[in-house]
Amino acid sequence: MKLATKYIHAGTEPDPSTGAIMTPIYQTSTYVQEAPGVNKGFEYARSQNPTRKALEEAYAQIENGKFGLAFGSGVAATDAVIKLLSPGDQVIAANDMYGGTYRLFTKIFAKYGIQFTYVDTTDVSNIQKAITPNTRLIWIETPTNPLMNITDIAAVASVAKNAKALLCVDNTFASPYLQNPLDLGADLVMHSATKYLGGHSDVIQGCLMMNDAALREQLYFIQKSCGAVPGPMDCFLVLRGIKTLHIRMQRHCENGEKIAHFLRSHPKVAKVYWCGFEDHHNYAIAKKQMRGFGGMMSFELKNDSVDEAKRVLSATKIFALAESLGGVESLINHPASMTHASIPRAERIKNGLSDSLIRLSIGIEDVEDLIEDLTQAIG
Ligand SMILES: *Cc1c(COP(=O)(O)O)cnc(C)c1O
Repeated sequence: MKLATKYIHAGTEPDPSTGAIMTPIYQTSTYVQEAPGVNKGFEYARSQNPTRKALEEAYAQIENGKFGLAFGSGVAATDAVIKLLSPGDQVIAANDMYGGTYRLFTKIFAKYGIQFTYVDTTDVSNIQKAITPNTRLIWIETPTNPLMNITDIAAVASVAKNAKALLCVDNTFASPYLQNPLDLGADLVMHSATKYLGGHSDVIQGCLMMNDAALREQLYFIQKSCGAVPGPMDCFLVLRGIKTLHIRMQRHCENGEKIAHFLRSHPKVAKVYWCGFEDHHNYAIAKKQMRGFGGMMSFELKNDSVDEAKRVLSATKIFALAESLGGVESLINHPASMTHASIPRAERIKNGLSDSLIRLSIGIEDVEDLIEDLTQAIG
């Protein structure tokens, strides 16, 4: 089945009680049983909910997986993956990943005795070198936030397989429309569904997709035991969002490409980070594993000062100054003072995140309006 058809029909069947074409919001906490233990497969809504079940089926299908699980946020999904591990187990993670993932690993799980080793995963040999007999999980993100670095998923999957470790890929930036890590050998895919899957900046949610039934059982056990489940209304919103993922992503990609080239030719812009440029560090890998390059990018100003960046950030009229990404509306963000403010300046600069770096989440508005807005803001 082609993507467009799959996204529209994934997980949704006419409601058995009424024939409603759209899965209803089953706003209930419990289900009446005919006799103790005799029920229709639904007992208590932390464990099962029909709206969530439809969405989890959709999650599985859109990542070409057998199983999907929904969580109350992206970080709750990540939290469930780390709970597969025991004290003494080692995780090899990217040194350039979503700040909330880094915070969860270093501030919450490190104190439970899980060892985290951070390496530059854009060169797979760094992962190979970090493997120890205790390595249980490799965690990567590609493209990364905000520098759009690319890691070779298939190459990391083969390193993980040899080490008998699980590979989990945070696929939030690419979305399933551009990249499917399970097809490339990953064991788990994680998304912040808050971003492209929901797509309308109106819900917080996360998910995991996988093929292995035993892994699904372990994660389902964690999901119901720890309780980070999304409510039915939020599941409905993501289910609806997925139906237009392909249309939105097409436009995010088209607008993204035009704006990346516009910025690159702008006299006041020093550098543009976008994985669709042929001279991007890992362009060949991006081209191999992605179907397009998306609408996320960052750029630096020639006048590399926080003040100049802040002037531009406050001058846009259509781009809204906000954290998050992946919605229909365009957003502009200053990593140095917003999403990455918790990283000490010296460390941030060392990682390539300059004072004037500005991140854009290109929405699906008319691209001419967006370019006009950036033109007047950059000045
Ligand atoms: C937003 C985000 C997360 C965290 O997801 P939440 O839904 O905010 O909990 C994880 N990874 C990436 C790449 C993100 O952009």
